[in-house]
Amino acid sequence: MESGKKIIIAIDGFSSCGKSTVAKQLAKELGYTYIDTGAMYRAVSLYALNKGWVNENAINENALKADISNIKIHFTYNKTDEKYFTWLNDEMVEDKIRNIEISNIVSPVSKLAFVREAMVQQQRIMASHGGVVMDGRDIGTVVFPNAELKIFMTASVEIRAQRRFDELIAKGDNVTLAQVAENIALRDHIDQTREVAPLKKADDAIEIDNGALNRNEQFAMILDLVKERVNN
Ligand code: C5P
Repeated sequence: MESGKKIIIAIDGFSSCGKSTVAKQLAKELGYTYIDTGAMYRAVSLYALNKGWVNENAINENALKADISNIKIHFTYNKTDEKYFTWLNDEMVEDKIRNIEISNIVSPVSKLAFVREAMVQQQRIMASHGGVVMDGRDIGTVVFPNAELKIFMTASVEIRAQRRFDELIAKGDNVTLAQVAENIALRDHIDQTREVAPLKKADDAIEIDNGALNRNEQFAMILDLVKERVNN
C-alpha cells in the first residue's frame, strides 16, 4: 500500500475472535509493527507461574507486585517464515504461553492494576514510532484512546471456541472442546467485569462481527478503513 502517514490501529475484542490473524495480515501489508498485548499478559502469567505465585485459585499479589519491574516483554519477527516470537526477559516463551494452563490463569493476573500499569507503559514505548497494529482488550479505550482506527471484533462463543479448539488440537495439545468453551466464557466474563480497563467497545470503534465473514472479506473490509484513515 502507498505509504501515507503512519497510524495506530487498535484491534480489541473477545478472546479467540481472530484479532491476531487480521492484525498480522495488516502489519504485513502496511509494513507496520504488530504488538500482541495478550501475549504480554500471558508472559507475566508464565513468570508468576514459574515462581509458584499463581494457581487457578489464588495469586500471591505482593510477591508479583514487588517483582513487576523485573518483567520485560519484547517481540521479534522472523521475516522468512513470517512468525512472531514473544520474549519474557531473555527467554523466548512463544510456545509456553499458548496453552490452556496459562489461559486459565491469565485473566485473574490481568485484572491486577499494577500488572496493567506495567504492561501499558511497555506497550506505549513499543508504539512510540507509530505505524503499529496492536491487539488486545483495552487498546482503543485505555492504551491509545487517540488511535486513528479502532476495530472491535466479536463472534459467538461457539464459533470462537471451535476455532481455538482446532488450533490447540493442531499443535498437539490435549484439551476438549468443552474445556476451551468454558475457558473462553470465563475469560470473557472476567475481562468485561474487572474494575481496571474492562473489555468494552470504545465509542468510536467500528464493530465487526466476523462469524459470517471469511478471512479475506474481513481483511478487505479493514484495509479499506485503514486507507480512509491514512489518506485523511
Ligand atoms: O489475546 P489473548 O487471548 O491472548 O489474551 C489473553 C488474556 O490477556 C485475555 O483473556 C485478557 O484477560 C488479557 N488481556 C488483557 N488486556 C489486553 C490483552 C489481553 O487483559 N490488552
